[in-house]
Amino acid sequence: MPQGKLIVITGPSGVGKGTIVRSLLQNHPQLSLSISATTRNPRPGEADGQDYYFISKEEFLEAISNSGFLEWAEYAGNYYGTPRTKIEELLDAGKWVLLEIELVGARAIAEIFPDALRIFILPPSLEELEARIRKRGKDSESAINQRLIRAKTEIAAKDEFDICIVNQDLATTIEEVEKAIFDI
Ligand code: 5GP
Repeated sequence: MPQGKLIVITGPSGVGKGTIVRSLLQNHPQLSLSISATTRNPRPGEADGQDYYFISKEEFLEAISNSGFLEWAEYAGNYYGTPRTKIEELLDAGKWVLLEIELVGARAIAEIFPDALRIFILPPSLEELEARIRKRGKDSESAINQRLIRAKTEIAAKDEFDICIVNQDLATTIEEVEKAIFDI
């Protein structure tokens, strides 16, 4: 049994998960982030091995068949997966590991690690979410539409999570996430 702790952060695209996770990592060096693999193309400014491992669909499918992922999901036309070995090493070493993943992956993790803390981040409204995705300016119109459709499904599942936090104000949201993780 792993001695570490898994913390899953889920919520629709554009809700601010990335910013929240970056702040957590900066302020709490005891936390580690699992870097996912994806078949999506890098956005401007994203680096391989830092934001994601950007791999081809063939490599992704091969990793699936070699049980290389703890969980994986298709999202808006691309594949995303959590590399298994690194997580297992971190948990065995007693580390606290953050996973920033979508709903299907969060459900899979709940099956494998029932003790994982699962946090769902909500937007103040769907209108606000759309405005945030558009403001980010990094996705095509069709990618934005796919993300908004998926957002509705994800939000409908929010009650499956241990804690739901509305990201109205970033600083307050981060405090609430910290409280949930560290029980402070
Ligand atoms: P994006 O393309 O915006 O970086 O990510 C799209 C969605 O995929 C986000 O909800 C993100 O949290 C999720 N995601 C990123 N990595 C993984 C992963 O390894 N597994 C799963 N299931 N979802 C992921």
